[in-house]
Amino acid sequence: CGIVGYIGHREAYPVLIKGLKRLEYRGYDSAGIVLYDGTDLKLSKTKGKVSDLEEKAEKEGTLKGKIGLGHTRWATHGVPNDVNSHPHFSNSGNLVIIHNGIIENYEPIKKELIKRGYTFKSDTDTEVLVNLIEDVKKKENVKLGKAVQIALNQVVGAYAIAVMDKQKPNEIVVARLGSPLAIGIGDEEFFIASDASPFIEYTSNAIYLEDEEMAIVRLNKPLKVHKIKDDSEVDPYVQELQM
Ligand code: GLU
Repeated sequence: CGIVGYIGHREAYPVLIKGLKRLEYRGYDSAGIVLYDGTDLKLSKTKGKVSDLEEKAEKEGTLKGKIGLGHTRWATHGVPNDVNSHPHFSNSGNLVIIHNGIIENYEPIKKELIKRGYTFKSDTDTEVLVNLIEDVKKKENVKLGKAVQIALNQVVGAYAIAVMDKQKPNEIVVARLGSPLAIGIGDEEFFIASDASPFIEYTSNAIYLEDEEMAIVRLNKPLKVHKIKDDSEVDPYVQELQM
């Protein structure tokens, strides 16, 4: 029930783990992280506490990288176990997602994707969404941000999501409807989180996405915020957080 993300010049691992601990109060049953280590996306996830995740990540060597995502799960679709924990990869292994919330119409979408050859490892609604994004991206031959926007217009539910593409490891696409999502703006770095507590020690500038908004968070580029519905650009309001 919490999401964190980092892109910038720091090692992401400590930022993500510390951030997940700050979000523990929201409640959860599983935790996971994904890091881009320069060549690949490395993922560790587990049922249990963030401290269990740390143990597993150290064992699996999921420690390096300056861009990554972290998640604490409160299971809604599929029991709490390692496989159902987030992050979830798409079938190609290129896209990875973290999600808080519920995709209500995941069943018909899943059926359609299975017909089109997609397979699923978990019982989650979330794995359906990441494969829908992948399917749209391929079919429409569009960039990740556009694929997320098109896919979200096909889903009913509530979400805060963050998505990364291994083929474009300098960007994180985020979106929200009904679940909170804040973006911390630092000096050549960005933080993503369910609330500002994971990043308040690094920056006091933040944008809170409104419902039905998405953002493309790119290194060394100004933040772009769009309406999910029609892709129109929104002028984001940057708040000064009280330390
Ligand atoms: N519906 C998703 C799942 O069950 C996300 C749950 C959450 O908000 O953590 O995996």
